[in-house]
Amino acid sequence: MIKRKVNDMEKEYGMNDVVEMKKQHPCGSRLFRITRLGADIKIKCEQCGRVIMMPRRDFEKRMKSVK
Ligand SMILES: [Zn+2]
Repeated sequence: MIKRKVNDMEKEYGMNDVVEMKKQHPCGSRLFRITRLGADIKIKCEQCGRVIMMPRRDFEKRMKSVK
């Protein structure tokens, strides 16, 4: 499995990893599962199932930790 390392942070993430974001989803959950890795990252809310897509740079800024 390909793991990506966030620049100047000790964080690695890969497909199907659950990550905690700094900002919570409107449904109240901070946990998301990575469903697509590329120039854009797709994450799926673990609670309500909504999918969010964002540029990798934004994702890395908003991610707090990998579970
Ligand atoms: Zn949600």
